[in-house]
Amino acid sequence: MYTQSADSFINKIAVIGGGPAGMMAAGTAAMLGADVVIFEGTDRLGKKLAITGKGRCNVTNDSTVSEFLENVTKNPKFLYAALNTLTPAETITLFESLGVPLKTERGKRVFPVSDKAKDIVDAMRSYSSGAETVYRKVTSIKYDAGIFYITAGNNEYTFNKVIIATGGKSYPLTGSDGSGYKLAKKLGHTVTELTPSLIPIESESPLCKEMQGLSLKNVGITVKNSNGQTLYTDFGEMMFTHFGVTGPVILSASSHIRNVDVSELKLFIDLKPALDENTLDARLLSDFSKNSNKDFINALGDLLPSKMILPFVKYTGIDGRKKVNSISREERKKILFSLKGLEIPLSAFRPIEEAIITSGGIDVKEITPKTMESKIVPGLYFAGEIIDTDAYTGGFNLQIAFSTGYLAGKSAAET
Ligand SMILES: Cc1cc2nc3c(=O)[nH]c(=O)nc-3n(C[C@H](O)[C@H](O)[C@H](O)COP(=O)(O)OP(=O)(O)OC[C@H]3O[C@@H](n4cnc5c(N)ncnc54)[C@H](O)[C@@H]3O)c2cc1C
Repeated sequence: MYTQSADSFINKIAVIGGGPAGMMAAGTAAMLGADVVIFEGTDRLGKKLAITGKGRCNVTNDSTVSEFLENVTKNPKFLYAALNTLTPAETITLFESLGVPLKTERGKRVFPVSDKAKDIVDAMRSYSSGAETVYRKVTSIKYDAGIFYITAGNNEYTFNKVIIATGGKSYPLTGSDGSGYKLAKKLGHTVTELTPSLIPIESESPLCKEMQGLSLKNVGITVKNSNGQTLYTDFGEMMFTHFGVTGPVILSASSHIRNVDVSELKLFIDLKPALDENTLDARLLSDFSKNSNKDFINALGDLLPSKMILPFVKYTGIDGRKKVNSISREERKKILFSLKGLEIPLSAFRPIEEAIITSGGIDVKEITPKTMESKIVPGLYFAGEIIDTDAYTGGFNLQIAFSTGYLAGKSAAET
């Protein structure tokens, strides 16, 4: 249990939030000799970290700093110093030194060999063990003449440095409920507009409900606006749900289609991206000649997953009981175009609570990038998702938390 000592306030650092950014900041500052306390509003450190990467934790991306910055969607320049202070390569070495062997998968995504996010959480808990943890939510931070007065529960604590690492406002059950933005605002900081990023997308197309639960592994997707202009195109895995669409390519698409009216967009799914139209047409002709006496609905088994056949047939508008040998050339073209571009009108993003990342946050103009210190309140620092910067999927967002946390902890302890 943390008890307030009566002695001087020198380098007593409070870290608000025990996520990856907070644990990294706290552990680094404690190793540099500071007296550090983490305040965590839930009953556990790293609750969100434990569910990352579908429980496997895509802990970083094994890229150079310049490759990394190309994957940062908002305020990449701001991160330059932090990423150079703790690079992705150094983060990999750090986890391995903490006893977590790592492996690199497609797209340079790095995971623990065990495929267990828990191993990363345990490593971070051990890294931050030089700090004390108080399991109480911070409800107020006041600053007066070089001293911070922190209220958590019924107690007030005093510190001379504070690092706010309270995360965003998505997945609030993990503790990231957006309360950090209010704390920062009260201290005079600006919070830019908060919007969901890496978020599933809703659609009213009946196809989604009919195919809910179906995951498509190797599909091409294209998102177009109402003028037919392509806004995003990608290849990979997606899934249908009761509300619309999700999965890696959809989440990535969501961070490319910001500041647009989602209800004016359409998603086109190429179910056979490896085959161009001519090759696919030849394939259809050959499948149809093999199955010429079958009903259309019974002739698609080699082309589509079974859960998709009935909704797909309805989508084409062709009678499923029609014999394959009586399908016209025009109808075959309709089937071909449906396979190459199944059209799903989109309606809205899911609520911010379901986002992987909250885009927006503390205005980077108010933070010194070389230290993470506030330009408004001396001795106040920020780390992690609370800052107005975010990136695509691939381990980039956790690395942002680690690098900004490391730099904030180091700067707070050394100055
Ligand atoms: C489902 C899901 C999967 C993800 N998978 C990946 C992935 O594989 N790879 C990747 O790079 N990124 C992933 N992310 C994103 C990643 O989890 C975040 O970028 C990262 O957790 C941000 O770290 P943070 O420390 O800034 O904030 P958080 O992890 O949100 O931690 C903030 C902490 O602060 C505490 N807190 C908040 N307010 C207060 C308060 N007032 N007082 C005390 N404590 C407080 C919270 O309880 C929480 O413990 C995923 C996100 C989600 C939701």
